[in-house]
Amino acid sequence: MGRAIHPTVTPLGYNKTMSTDVAISPPRHLSPSSASLFEQCPRRWRFRYVDRLPEPVGEEAVVGTFAHRVLELLLGEPAAARTQDRARELARQVWTEVEADTDFRSLALDDAAARAFRWKGWTAIAGLWDHEDPCSVEVASTERRIEVALDGVPFLGVVDRIDRCADGLVVTDYKSGRPPSRRFQDDKLAQVLLYAAAVGAIDGDAPARARLVYLGREGRVVEADARPELVDSAVAALRATWERLGEAARADTFDPAPGPLCGWCPHVDRCPEGQAEVRVRLEQGRMRLDAPAVPLVA
Ligand code: SF4
Repeated sequence: MGRAIHPTVTPLGYNKTMSTDVAISPPRHLSPSSASLFEQCPRRWRFRYVDRLPEPVGEEAVVGTFAHRVLELLLGEPAAARTQDRARELARQVWTEVEADTDFRSLALDDAAARAFRWKGWTAIAGLWDHEDPCSVEVASTERRIEVALDGVPFLGVVDRIDRCADGLVVTDYKSGRPPSRRFQDDKLAQVLLYAAAVGAIDGDAPARARLVYLGREGRVVEADARPELVDSAVAALRATWERLGEAARADTFDPAPGPLCGWCPHVDRCPEGQAEVRVRLEQGRMRLDAPAVPLVA
C-alpha cells in the first residue's frame, strides 16, 4: 500500500507567493509516490515536499495501513499458520496500535464509525484469500526497503512483499481502494515495475513478475510480466520525471497542473488556478458535489 516516503529536500524560507529567486535543491531520493505526485501536479509536489504543508490522511488510507500491517505480520508467520483465524488475532493486536495512532485519531470517529472502520479493515484483510492462499506462498521478504540508482536516479522505495514462485521472484504491492480501469492499469503497474528494476539491480536476480493486489470487496490482482522492455520503460519514465523535477527545482518553477483532482487537493485554498478549475468543473457539472474543495469555491 506504498507507505509515503518523503524525499529529503533542502528546506527553504518560502514566502507562499509561489516563486522565489533561490533555487531549491532537488530531493536526495525519488520514490514512486513522490514521482507520481510531481507528474500529477508540480505545485502540489512543492506544497508537500518543500513547504511540508500537512496533508490530512483520509479514512481509506488509514484503513489501508491497518490491513497492510496485519498482512505484513501474517506473511511473516510460518506458512501453515497463515490462516484467517490467525489474521483475526493479529488484527485485534494491531487494532490497539491503530487506536493510538495520530492519523486514526485525527479521523475523530465515534463508536459506530470506529466499528465500521474495523469492518472495512477486516474486509480488506480477508480480501487476500480471494486472490491466493497465504499458506502456499513462499515469502522471500516483506517490507523491504530498497535504495539504489536506476539509470542515475536515486530511487527509494519499500516493497510490500517479494515471493519465490516457480517462474522466479514476484514483487507485490498491496493497494486499498478500487482497482484502476484497464485504461490506467499500465500507469499503476509502473510503480511495481520500478520495484522489480530495483530488486534486480541490487540482487542481480531480476523478478519475473510485478503485481498490485487490490484488497477489499472489489479487489483484483493487476500484474505484468517484468519483461526487460517494460522495466526499462518504467525506468526511463522515472528518469524523465527526475530531470523535469530537477529543472523545476533549479528555477523554482513548480507550475500548477489543474485537473479533476483539484477537488481533492488539500492545498486548493492556496492555489487560485486550482480554485478556478473546481469552479469551472462545477459549472459544467464535471465535479462531484462531495469533493472537499467544493465549499471553498462556492
Ligand atoms: S489545487 Fe490543483 S493545481 Fe493547485 S496545487 Fe492542488 S492539484 Fe495542483
